[in-house]
Amino acid sequence: MRPGYFEDLESFVELSSVKFEYLEPNSLKEACSMLDQYKDKAKLIAGGTHLIPLMKTRTVTPEYLINLKNIPNLEYIDYYSDFAEEGVKIGALATLFDLGRSVIINERAGVLVEAINLREQRLNKTRWAYYMTTIGGCLSSPESAADIAPALMILDAKAVMQGLQGWETVPIESLFTKNGNGDVYEILGEIRIPKQQESEVGLVYEKSVGTGGAPSMGAAVYLRLDLKHVDIEEIRIIVGGVGAAPVETQEGPAIMKGNPIDDHLIIDAADIAAGEVCGDSDPELLERARELIEEAIRHAIDRSIGDFALGY
Ligand SMILES: Cc1cc2nc3c(=O)[nH]c(=O)nc-3n(C[C@H](O)[C@H](O)[C@H](O)COP(=O)(O)OP(=O)(O)OC[C@H]3O[C@@H](n4cnc5c(N)ncnc54)[C@H](O)[C@@H]3O)c2cc1C
Repeated sequence: MRPGYFEDLESFVELSSVKFEYLEPNSLKEACSMLDQYKDKAKLIAGGTHLIPLMKTRTVTPEYLINLKNIPNLEYIDYYSDFAEEGVKIGALATLFDLGRSVIINERAGVLVEAINLREQRLNKTRWAYYMTTIGGCLSSPESAADIAPALMILDAKAVMQGLQGWETVPIESLFTKNGNGDVYEILGEIRIPKQQESEVGLVYEKSVGTGGAPSMGAAVYLRLDLKHVDIEEIRIIVGGVGAAPVETQEGPAIMKGNPIDDHLIIDAADIAAGEVCGDSDPELLERARELIEEAIRHAIDRSIGDFALGY
């Protein structure tokens, strides 16, 4: 059974010795106005799984807490199709729990489900945090960059940001590379994932869990073969968890593109890509990244060959 969320947030608001004013906007635009009014004194809250622990320890001490959870119709997971494009739309308040179990996401963006499932393996299922993390909150917390961001980036997903002047669509990576000048008050409202090409494509997400303080890393790989399933026409590798932002490697994929599948090439590409992500300052991290990327490439090749290998 899911532990009640509102019990937890409400009891936190009511019983908290941490003093703040609690605000409940009815729309993203109203929330933007509040952010604009109170600026750095205010903090948005969605699932609360990141923010409440930080407030309890007084690491973060907002004077105004703007709860997005009461904004109606922001938990949707839809497939859309219009003249210009088609794909999946996800409201910022959709939880990772619901996304992982959504038929639409399982059918249209399976690599995101893999990322969510691997994240869930480490979580305590009796805690409300397991159920309440929202996709908007997750993408707005740099600590979770290793988990779902590489999977969304490999799907070419975009974030729809609501600001006072209207909304704009930006690449997922820009959520992690904000310039931090402190005067941009935008709210993540929606994620859009374009329709994916399915044949000859292998899409994979793999994770390496760090122990003893070492960071967890996530690697997402997109690999497309030619029709004969011999040459690699396209390959992308995105790794999260090493720095503040996920990194799309360039040089590793460059040596594989246009060439036939080859064991030495896979090893060399993983080596180069790991170096791009980690540099050479920490040999253990570098080796973990190399193993992770190599495994993800091999897995993506298997998937892109798919039923063809079985002679169907
Ligand atoms: C030290 C630490 C390490 C963590 N490491 C990991 C990890 O490795 N992997 C992992 O998956 N999780 C990790 N988490 C937890 C993770 O950050 C949260 O589970 C989740 O990302 C927060 O989602 P939420 O909906 O509960 O957001 P909240 O706790 O409500 O908010 C999180 C942050 O996002 C902002 N925010 C929320 N919604 C929006 C929005 N729509 N637009 C703009 N900003 C918004 C909030 O202001 C806040 O700063 C970590 C948490 C902590 C404290």
